[in-house]
Amino acid sequence: MRYPRFNPVTMFLYAAALAAALAAPTVVAQGLPKGGPQLQGPSRLAFLPQQATLAAMRDAGFFPTGVEPVYPAAALCPAAESLFAAQTRSDRSQRQAVFFQGFHGGMDIPVPEGTPVLAVAAGTVIYKGEGGSIGGIGLILQHAPAETGLAVWTYTEYKHLREVPALALGTRVAMGQPIAVSGKTGTEGGYYGAEGFAHLHLSAYFSAQPGYEADRAFVPAGGQWMDPLAFFRGMPVASAALLALPPAQKQVPIHYLIAGGASYPSGTRVIWPLACTPG
Ligand SMILES: [Zn+2]
Repeated sequence: MRYPRFNPVTMFLYAAALAAALAAPTVVAQGLPKGGPQLQGPSRLAFLPQQATLAAMRDAGFFPTGVEPVYPAAALCPAAESLFAAQTRSDRSQRQAVFFQGFHGGMDIPVPEGTPVLAVAAGTVIYKGEGGSIGGIGLILQHAPAETGLAVWTYTEYKHLREVPALALGTRVAMGQPIAVSGKTGTEGGYYGAEGFAHLHLSAYFSAQPGYEADRAFVPAGGQWMDPLAFFRGMPVASAALLALPPAQKQVPIHYLIAGGASYPSGTRVIWPLACTPG
């Protein structure tokens, strides 16, 4: 990952995460969130872009995990350039501290506007709408444990879409189904200027139970932030558990779909959100 190794904030989050991982009860090490349903209270802060505190973010798993994608040798896939909890953008510039204290709430995959966005896993559309300068137009899917093979409820959030997707709320989608069209909404003006930055932003969350708030900010009830790359490893998905993994286990082969064709590995229940082309 490319983030400043000696930045004091990063080092603080690292140390805190490591301490949390060592002190955590078994249930957290297995990737299950602490506590029960919790829509109020300090942890809710971790999901509010401009109010999130470093402490709340740390407790909600919002810190770099060190997990890195390994792309297939047999296909060409649009690559992620700014990973989960990175402090830098795709062009390595420093993110502005006004949102999530300058940490990235997901991963960015540059793609031309109009590229079909694919459902990472089977799921249900639970939100779509305009997020303004915070991510532009977005869509959120909820995935039941049986739909991903993970032991927890998970969510994937797709941002900067070109237009509000036609899919109605409550629609069930299949893994790999085109659910939206990529764009650059929410990126024009500010840092990227009038041209904006065409890319897909993918955020992920998990919780032990299916409750959530989805309005201007998404809050999984009693849940945590999730490194989107954790989908491709399987359990555990908690950031503290991922951070504690030996380096070799942080290299994660991505699962993917060839446009109009098969998914790899065969039988996978999760895929990269953009189609790959045969290499
Ligand atoms: Zn992003």
